[in-house]
Amino acid sequence: MSKRSLAAEALRRTGALSLLEHMRSKPGLLIVTHHRVGNAAASRFDRAIFSASADAFDRQVKYFKRHLSVIGGEELEAIAAGRQKLTRMHVAFTFDDGYVNDYRTTFDILKANDCTGSFFLVPEYVGTATVPWWDEIAYLVRNTARTSLSLTYPAPLTVTIGTDREAAIVAVLRHYKLPSNHDGNILLEQLREQAGCELPHVGRRFITWEEAREMRAAGMTIGSHTQTHRLLGQLTPEEQHWELAESKRVIEENIGAPVTSVAYPVGIRGAFDEHTERITRELGYNVGFSFYGGVNTPEHMQPTNLLRISTNPDWLLFRAETVLLSRLGSLPY
Ligand SMILES: [Zn+2]
Repeated sequence: MSKRSLAAEALRRTGALSLLEHMRSKPGLLIVTHHRVGNAAASRFDRAIFSASADAFDRQVKYFKRHLSVIGGEELEAIAAGRQKLTRMHVAFTFDDGYVNDYRTTFDILKANDCTGSFFLVPEYVGTATVPWWDEIAYLVRNTARTSLSLTYPAPLTVTIGTDREAAIVAVLRHYKLPSNHDGNILLEQLREQAGCELPHVGRRFITWEEAREMRAAGMTIGSHTQTHRLLGQLTPEEQHWELAESKRVIEENIGAPVTSVAYPVGIRGAFDEHTERITRELGYNVGFSFYGGVNTPEHMQPTNLLRISTNPDWLLFRAETVLLSRLGSLPY
């Protein structure tokens, strides 16, 4: 059992966890991010982006409703802009990439729980069977017959393909996300050549414009996740401007409504830079989301760098982390 699990177990056993659950929350905005809700083990692609099964997600939504104030859409933007005074912890749900499970699973769960969420689409992927770079990397590394892979771009990297293929996948994905990677296709070409296996034929993997419109009509927010999902921090300011402007234009044209929110692809530090936030504001986005953890407090509320967290798939750890973040404002680790 990990140290975190032991600590969470101690919180539960001593009754401190339920005591904390009944305590008043701190003022703030906790923004939860999911990429794919569903069964990770059944995926032939990147399993790490599955953050919860459908049942686990449903249970989490119910927990959030019981212990925090769930908000979305305009209220989220009002809080980010400082137009709404915070007296307690609010929680908002966000979903990146626009996989079909957003429509088939997540949307249904949110509706059944009378909640809304923000969905960030990549126009180039909408309605297609695209296998994006992270999914392709995961597939190639998991299925290659080679015992090691050596890349030279954007820096030398040799990955041993041992019994732990998932660790090898993580290593190559981390390599792809280096700020010095200015052309992901070079890296992918090297990997394809070395891995020597073909991607399988797949059906449609991303939601359609029609589905996006239906979700919006039901109260969901549709935002941008850039036009092609390149990491903004790897691009020139001009390229960033195009990614952010073009995606906004195309989504607005297809959903027939203004797009005022954007989630920066990957969202970790280095995946976007000082130009990103400026361009985001200039283009008329009200909010921009990062993804390196943390709670947005009244003292730290940056509309173009709203902090987001992922939730723990383990139920006890999920409860402990949620309650510590909302009642104490941070995690002790
Ligand atoms: Zn993404």
